[in-house]
Amino acid sequence: MPFAAGSRRELLRQSLFGPLAAGITWSLQTPAVCPKDETGGGNLHVAPFSFDVTPPIGHPCCGGWIKPVEVVDDSLEAKGIVILGAGKPIILCAVDWTGVLNSTHVSWRSAMAEAAGTTPDRVALHCVHQHNAPFACLDAEAIIAKEIAKGRDKISHILDVDWFKKCVNQSRDAIAKAIGRAQPVTQIGWGEGKVERVASNRRVSRDKSGKVLAMRGSACKDPKLRELPEGLIDPFARTIAFFNGEKKVASCHFYAVHPMSFYADGRVTSDFAGLARKALQAREPECAHIYFTGCAGNIAAGKYNDGSKASRADLTQRLLEGIIASESIMERTDTKGIAWNTAQIVPSARLQPAMPTLWGLIENRTNPATNANRLALELAFHQRAQKQIPIVLGSLKVGPVRTLHLPAESFVEYQLNATKFAQSKQNDGFVATAAYGDGGPWYIPTPAEFPNGGYEVSVAFGAPSLAESLSRGIESLLG
Ligand SMILES: [Zn+2]
Repeated sequence: MPFAAGSRRELLRQSLFGPLAAGITWSLQTPAVCPKDETGGGNLHVAPFSFDVTPPIGHPCCGGWIKPVEVVDDSLEAKGIVILGAGKPIILCAVDWTGVLNSTHVSWRSAMAEAAGTTPDRVALHCVHQHNAPFACLDAEAIIAKEIAKGRDKISHILDVDWFKKCVNQSRDAIAKAIGRAQPVTQIGWGEGKVERVASNRRVSRDKSGKVLAMRGSACKDPKLRELPEGLIDPFARTIAFFNGEKKVASCHFYAVHPMSFYADGRVTSDFAGLARKALQAREPECAHIYFTGCAGNIAAGKYNDGSKASRADLTQRLLEGIIASESIMERTDTKGIAWNTAQIVPSARLQPAMPTLWGLIENRTNPATNANRLALELAFHQRAQKQIPIVLGSLKVGPVRTLHLPAESFVEYQLNATKFAQSKQNDGFVATAAYGDGGPWYIPTPAEFPNGGYEVSVAFGAPSLAESLSRGIESLLG
């Protein structure tokens, strides 16, 4: 249901900063998609920024159902760029956390936007999705905090709210300071390189009807599952770089794989994707290297990873080599016509379990406490869907190059289809996709995969109509 530009802006303003006005109703079965476009590019600048987001000792990891932080093996970072001179500022940022969800995603984007003098729909905030890391949902934390206040034991907080606020304040400072050091951009470069023996599909073990039997996870010790084919993946690391003459100022990398080699041991690490990024940064200190995880909802390293300590170094090296290959043969375009487009989708929650059931399960003390956290995260998504707070998709376009900024644990089919769609519209369409933006819906399978079950479908909080509107939103951005 498309609607006029004025009312789109009004919807975004209302939905980001408070409940929608009474009387505006949306069909949950036919979520709206509404693209908009603001162009610029005459005097392009880029301002890289970074800040530390390493959680304190004792902080919950992955929403509180694995061991909390005991040791920090390497720091977690938030890294991004502010793009100036393409309409109002645009911010692209990737955080070494498991997820940022619902109102937490909205409020953090709003704070970043304020620091840069832009609007929240021009902030693409993503997580790399490591698991020995925070999972930030203030809404779910409020639900669990009430349970803890009622005296329930053996239950973990999800997020240290005061520490989260410090991270938000750090982001404001980092962005404001970075803008003062912005550097001119004369050209945009793009390239892709094949990553060997890292990504594999998790859903390759199936019966004859296509139903998923066993998941090949991030690490897999079962030789039978490891012997199964790689399955559907996107084998390419893609890079989009910002050049000032011959100087590469910032380089954004995109690759679709769950970034964990092994976890749940209380040891904070940016893991193999973060370590590859840090290695790139050490090789080129003058260029800001940023890594975005693509549509990896059904993609992990399981075929090539037995979870041993050696595997982390191997995966880091192979991903690093793929990224270096993507940077080695970059084409370039000038910055004329650079533009940021957005599309909104209004999320719909799955029908079962319904909200009263979720409340009952959370409050039932005979249920394992760790389940309460996941149920609280699902309840938070239901509450958000009820308020019809939209998920914002984004895309930067310049010449034949597109970035695509998507929510949650989207399946790899979304980015593969996005590339095919872009190529059908222009012969050399190049799309670099980041997922794990607003994490509220958790997994987003394709509509065709819902009947095939498996873990990912069991924790897909959105209705199949959310998957359909995601596809429509992508096409509206790339069309
Ligand atoms: Zn995941």
